[in-house]
Amino acid sequence: MFFGYHHQKELNTGVFLENMLNKILFGLSTGLRESYYSLFPDQGLLEKLENQLFFLTVQTCNICNANCTFCGYQYMEQKKQIMTDDVFKKAVHDFLNAGGTRILLSGAVGDPLMDPKIIERIKLCRSYPGIKSIEMVTNCINLDNVGVRSLLTSGMTEIYVSTTGFDQAMHQRIYRSNYYEKAKENILAILRENKALGRPVKIIICLRVDKPINYIFNLPGFEEVRKLTDSVSYNYYFDDWSGRIKAADLTGNMRLRPKSLLFFKNNNPCSLLYDRVAILPNGDISLCGCRELNGDSELIIGNINRLSLTEAYCSMYSKQIRKKWLTNKIIPDICRDCTNYSPRQFLMLSENRRLFRDNGNKINKNA
Ligand code: SF4
Ligand code: SF4
Repeated sequence: MFFGYHHQKELNTGVFLENMLNKILFGLSTGLRESYYSLFPDQGLLEKLENQLFFLTVQTCNICNANCTFCGYQYMEQKKQIMTDDVFKKAVHDFLNAGGTRILLSGAVGDPLMDPKIIERIKLCRSYPGIKSIEMVTNCINLDNVGVRSLLTSGMTEIYVSTTGFDQAMHQRIYRSNYYEKAKENILAILRENKALGRPVKIIICLRVDKPINYIFNLPGFEEVRKLTDSVSYNYYFDDWSGRIKAADLTGNMRLRPKSLLFFKNNNPCSLLYDRVAILPNGDISLCGCRELNGDSELIIGNINRLSLTEAYCSMYSKQIRKKWLTNKIIPDICRDCTNYSPRQFLMLSENRRLFRDNGNKINKNA
């Protein structure tokens, strides 16, 4: 028995070491594979992504109550409008049928809290168990009119708060808004209420600032924000919206993003062309949406009133856009100088494979 115990122990140690070795080898080979595919696209994965929608961006309104120096909103020419109920419901319905799980209720420009129906729209999304994540980006200026508690209990999962922090002059300088006090009170109110409710919503403070981050952190009242928020991110670098925003428009530490990543751009189509679509307020469907200021780019792939999201996303036209970029290096005009360009890199590749693993049996119903 004594001998047997030691024998068993040796066996266990051997199995443990073998498992460890397998894990290390698996990690190394995965790392090498994803590093390679970060440089040279994994065409098999891209083909799978071409047939599967994961994310939906819904720009329920293109109206904003600020006028930020770094934002394309000041150059928007299309009609300011709020999405109709029919368009919204069909977008969500089509997305569910496509097996999608994550909705962002914000567009390239416009504040979702300017949509008078935003709460009932969030509740509609929440009523479907298939929708796992409901997110928005807001400057919070109109939050008191929408209702802090209403928003926090509507079913939102994540709220990204776009702000300068608590510097009134900077708010006027960058957001060119006279609603500094309202924004500040609303940000504090949503953080306090979220805590009181047991933190049902993840709240992320996204600073768009022109002074050093330590200055912002030390502003009166901001310590409470840091304690109550889930995280704080900050951004000094901004897209130029196809040359519309000039370096001279930005103040202090703010900079235009350098147009680097050219090597990646020529070899790797933007990851945002795969796995998502955006719906504009008039029902137009865009393959990306992040720069769709006037809804007139070649990334517009149809209108939700005439075809389903899956039909648009999987159409020959959409496939041709991606294929031309992938094989012939023909990049859509709107993407050519876009510094939001996002190559499919290591973590994203792993995440995509995980999503396919987790959802493999549930998705692709209509593709
Ligand atoms: S708050 Fe957002 S949408 Fe409005 S102008 Fe600023 S960046 Fe643009
Ligand atoms: S390059 Fe820019 S506009 Fe084109 S798909 Fe990527 S993020 Fe969107």
